[in-house]
Amino acid sequence: MGKLSVAVIGAGWAGCAAAVELTRRGAAVTLYEAARVAGGRARRIDYQGHVLDNGQHILLGAYRDTLRMMRTVGLQPSALLMRLPLQMRYPAHSDGMDLVAPRLPAPFHLLAGVLRATGLSVNDKLALARFSSATRWMGWQLNVDCTVLELLERFGQTERLTKLMWRPLCIAALNTPPERASAKVFLAVLRDSLGASRAASDMLLPRVDLSALFPDAALAWVQQHGGRVLTGSRVNVLRADGDDWVVDTDEQPDRYTQVVVATSADKASGLLTNIDPSISAALDFEVEPITTCYLQYDAQVRLPSVMLALVDDPEQHRWGQFVFDRGQLDAAQAGLLAVVISASGAAIESGTLEKELAAQLAHELQMPALASPLWSKAITEKRATFACVPNLIRPPNATAHRGLWLAGDYTEGEYPATIEGAVRSGLGAAAGLLKSVG
Ligand SMILES: Cc1cc2nc3c(=O)[nH]c(=O)nc-3n(C[C@H](O)[C@H](O)[C@H](O)COP(=O)(O)OP(=O)(O)OC[C@H]3O[C@@H](n4cnc5c(N)ncnc54)[C@H](O)[C@@H]3O)c2cc1C
Repeated sequence: MGKLSVAVIGAGWAGCAAAVELTRRGAAVTLYEAARVAGGRARRIDYQGHVLDNGQHILLGAYRDTLRMMRTVGLQPSALLMRLPLQMRYPAHSDGMDLVAPRLPAPFHLLAGVLRATGLSVNDKLALARFSSATRWMGWQLNVDCTVLELLERFGQTERLTKLMWRPLCIAALNTPPERASAKVFLAVLRDSLGASRAASDMLLPRVDLSALFPDAALAWVQQHGGRVLTGSRVNVLRADGDDWVVDTDEQPDRYTQVVVATSADKASGLLTNIDPSISAALDFEVEPITTCYLQYDAQVRLPSVMLALVDDPEQHRWGQFVFDRGQLDAAQAGLLAVVISASGAAIESGTLEKELAAQLAHELQMPALASPLWSKAITEKRATFACVPNLIRPPNATAHRGLWLAGDYTEGEYPATIEGAVRSGLGAAAGLLKSVG
């Protein structure tokens, strides 16, 4: 019997993980990617000769499958990611707080961090300790899902703590504001960060562009191990023909016994409408945008910390939850700041985002030079993630059609739309597929 022939459609992190895993387990994989660059929503982009990312990303020490897959394709995570202890640090002049978890075993890292934190009252600290011990006691689980805001109210979280810690954490992790976000998913993320071992709670910042962090190496690895990689190759039509699946691009069609559709949910919905309208309907998620605003300054400009939280207050035209000093991650990017504005609808509409952000940074960091960037570029991904609302129904990897599998950050799983969610989904699709063929 010949090798199992599998088409993987989409070389985002889910498709790359699926392609590597299937190849590793002996399948003959063809990976189709519409774009020239792999990585999907977490990829490198070229802006007028500058290497940027489609959006600034942050990973967690708890992203175990992502880190494992990086190693599988020959990369060394410790060389490509800066490891920071769990923290929530605001600039000194922002009326924020400063919490850094020291390098102690869990849960003492968090407790000691809370005790030492500045900018929080005793009441805030007690509320945080109460939340942490109660949720730990509940095993970070809820029987009935509710919104994050309801959860915070249930555990008596103070207004200041909600504003400075819970709101930005919830928006960063779920890309959905606490009043609409799922408490169950939020707790799953907290379990792996606040509640986990110190190393799992670390924050990991990429030192290289996002395609170089895994997708480029994944494609090379698949090719070196006998797979076919077709970039710049959009799948226009997917159809069933007897026991086979036919994949149509602008080139001649190819036939496979198995297909993993690893595009975003909306693109998968388009490809599958003719095959099964009910899958398409299940993929119709409400989505949230994310904007990353890059601001380039003179190479001497350096922030007091590689990552700082910002006081986000749309009514006051204060935008963004975090600013990153890319120069501290990669010397070639000295003077480049990236501000992340999750759930960025209002910010995009303001029309003067870049100017307002520069003025806000200059004020909060007491660095007048920040008011006048050499250039700036705001990149908005309108369909960045699905809105992670309570009781959201997400489809499994398997479909009702033999040989047809779904992979992507939106499939069933504990995680919100993240790199780790995408990688786990890709691995889940590969495992299901291989099991189905014995
Ligand atoms: C701005 C921004 C910031 C984010 N920040 C974080 C963060 O800090 N931490 C984190 O963990 N996650 C973050 N995320 C989420 C994370 O990027 C996504 O969850 C993850 O990248 C999704 O991967 P995926 O493989 O499921 O889908 P995608 O990345 O969407 O990949 C799908 C791929 O399929 C290709 N494709 C589509 N249609 C076709 C077709 N017909 N034929 C061939 N190829 C096709 C696309 O070109 C794409 O490459 C962020 C996302 C954005 C947009």
